[in-house]
This record gives sequence, structure tokens and C-alpha cells, in this order.
Amino acid sequence: MEKEFVPVAEALEKIQAAIAEACAKARRRTDAVEIIGVTKTHGPDVVREAWEAGIRTFGENKVQEAGAKIPECVGGAEWHLVGHLQRNKARHALALFPVIHSLDSLRLAEQLEHVAEETGHRPQVLLEINVSGEASKDGLRPEHAPEVIDYLLTCRHLTWTGLMTLAPFYPDPEQTRPVFVALRNLRDRWEREYAVGLPNLSMGMSNDYRIAVEEGATWLRLGTALFGNRPNMP
Ligand SMILES: *Cc1c(COP(=O)(O)O)cnc(C)c1O
Repeated sequence: MEKEFVPVAEALEKIQAAIAEACAKARRRTDAVEIIGVTKTHGPDVVREAWEAGIRTFGENKVQEAGAKIPECVGGAEWHLVGHLQRNKARHALALFPVIHSLDSLRLAEQLEHVAEETGHRPQVLLEINVSGEASKDGLRPEHAPEVIDYLLTCRHLTWTGLMTLAPFYPDPEQTRPVFVALRNLRDRWEREYAVGLPNLSMGMSNDYRIAVEEGATWLRLGTALFGNRPNMP
């Protein structure tokens, strides 16, 4: 089925209006919320269109796909890894992404720190937390996070700056709210417990970003809402 064509600039304008409304409701500043254009499965032409509409930060979920795409794209864009990272791709990932949203194990943290030391990269990392338990297999359960946090606090090359979650899809986005509240509460708790600043909350996708903004999201990971349905991958 052909998707109806909506220019990215037009989609973005509507999204920004919705973000402004959610910010007003939550008494937050709109400049505390940044859109990450998630361009997985889309080509450099879509990245260019988004760049021209004003998007400066892009997200990819696969290292290999990003490695082929990023050199073809406009310079100046900042690329974030938002999808699961395998340890054997840590080196490639650090060459592409200054920010990794999907740190989900001690072993991956160790590998990233080791490679960053060798290569001179200084990535920001977010801990990906599975707050909803059974509904998703992605991310660390909160009770398993402390051993990773203890390690991150010793790292000299990785900087831990926040939390990310991949919420389950609910047709009614209101049902997602408790997931976002739980992530924010974990952030507040760990900031106190570990005496660190964790400014970044990466939560909210196309279906539920308004709710995520109301609950404190600073990075929205938006694909479909900006770019329409993704082309089918082989
Ligand atoms: C694909 C993807 C998104 C964007 O999803 P949409 O629902 O299309 O906005 C966000 N985060 C991650 C980790 C993704 O893989």
C-alpha cells in the first residue's frame, strides 16, 4: 500500500505543536525536549529532508546499516545508537555514535570502556531499563542496574548521562504513562543515591511522545510520526 506523502517539515510542525502543548501542561520548557529523527530503513534522501526541516540529531538501531548510511549523509548531524548493541560491534559503534542509548549489560559496558580507552572516543551512554518487566525483553531490570552503575562510576572514558526505555506498544498511549513515570522515578532515585547528574531521559516514540513529554522526556525517538511508515526491509 502506498503511504500518503507528508513532507517531513509539515509532520515536524505538527509534532512541535504537540510538544509545546504537552510542555505547557507539564510546566516544562520546550527547549528541554529534543527530537531524535529515527531514520532506520530510510535512505540519505530522508535524512537530508529532515536536516532541511531543522532536525539535527538522528537515531539508528543497527550498527551495520548506520555504517553504510552515515557517510552518505549531510555532515554536522549527530548520530545516536538507539537499538540493541552486541559486544562484537562495540568498536564499529563507537566510530559512528557519540551517544549510545542502549547500554544494557555489565559486559557491554566493560567492552565499550575498553574500546573507548584504546580509540580515544568519549561516548555518552544511557542505561536502557526494562521497567515494564514481562512486556519486553530489552533492557536491564532495575534490580540488576546497580552492578552496572557501580562499574560506570569507575569508567574514565564512558560518561553516564541518563536512562532510556523502550515502552511496550499500547493502542491507547495513556497506558504507557506508568512506564515513563517509573523511568523518571528511577532517574531521580539514582541521582540521589549515587550523587550524579542524569539529565537525559530517552523515552517516547511516535505513538506516545506527548505522554513522555508530560512525564519528563528530554529525548524523543521519532520514526513513523516524522517519516511515515517504514519501507519493508528485505
Ligand atoms: C524504531 C525505533 C524508534 C522509533 O519508532 P516509531 O514508533 O516509528 O517512532 C524508537 N526507538 C527505537 C529503539 C527504535 O528501534
